[in-house]
Amino acid sequence: VLDVEDIVDALHVRGDEQDALFARAAHARHAHWGDRVVVRGVTEITNLCRVDCEFCPMRRANSRVNQVFKLGPDQLVEAARAVRDSGINVVFFQGGEIPQTTRIVGEAIPRIRELFDDTVEILLNLGNKSRDEYKYLRDQGADSYILKFESSDPQLHERMRHETLDSRLRCLQDLLDLGFKVGTGSIVGLPGQSPRHLAEDIAFARDLGVHMCSVSPFIPAPATPMADCPAGDLELTLNAIAVMRLVEPSWLIPSVSALAKSANGGQHRGFRAGANVLTINFTAEQISDSYLIYGKDRFVVRNDYARRLIDEVGLAPSGSVFIAETPSRVQHGPGAR
Ligand code: SF4
Repeated sequence: VLDVEDIVDALHVRGDEQDALFARAAHARHAHWGDRVVVRGVTEITNLCRVDCEFCPMRRANSRVNQVFKLGPDQLVEAARAVRDSGINVVFFQGGEIPQTTRIVGEAIPRIRELFDDTVEILLNLGNKSRDEYKYLRDQGADSYILKFESSDPQLHERMRHETLDSRLRCLQDLLDLGFKVGTGSIVGLPGQSPRHLAEDIAFARDLGVHMCSVSPFIPAPATPMADCPAGDLELTLNAIAVMRLVEPSWLIPSVSALAKSANGGQHRGFRAGANVLTINFTAEQISDSYLIYGKDRFVVRNDYARRLIDEVGLAPSGSVFIAETPSRVQHGPGAR
């Protein structure tokens, strides 16, 4: 079992040692998952957010200057139809943290499950909510939820997000208790963050017992207090992916689009370092320009690029790995549909 010291050491390796680390991670992925890359279809449902994260252009302070959008249940069902028609069975909705998304998504989920004849994973990333809201979403048929802690260091977390780490952890625990498959993760390159912080994030995620974990390099975005901060280190991010794979071979670990923005071929290298998830963006183009998660010129993964990428790294696209384990909670009794 890798402890925090081992993880710190592994985060520092470069050159031949880094190649060896990636080879071990790819071997661990192969042993657990074979060649499979889980493909998700994401739709961004709103760029409104009540939180004021220092690094994010969708922060509350920008809500008056951004061109805001919020989709409704009908638009979510249409987006899910496009995901289905592309042969993908992980329907992923993400958006800023506002209370209205509970009802909007909750109303759409049963219709989407029906669209897929129940053979679908509904994955959400909608921020902190009350336990009752999570339960409602679960009862409506949501399977999985991503809630990144960004940093598990309480001070750094609060400095970056103006929210307490405890409130995030309460939500993560509620999600786990309610039977969601849960993902969390960190940003690499936050000001004041050391490799030890990152190592502790990875160990913390393991101890939480989550099912998915991700790491993204910080990308400085305009109109944020961190616009002039240096970007997160690509090599450190890739090493973190490899270490995460060794720490918990069963995790779903994405090769995120921010890696492609950091460097040409960055997302390919994420897979070489042991990632096994790729997210394809289904947000309509005119809306996705307003979803400013990495600033206006963010890299948006579309279907053709994604299929080519998976092929180029010698892996094969796969559907949800959670469907068989998580039968729908939507009741099929008389009148339920
Ligand atoms: S990172 Fe998420 S929670 Fe923070 S401001 Fe951006 S959308 Fe809101």
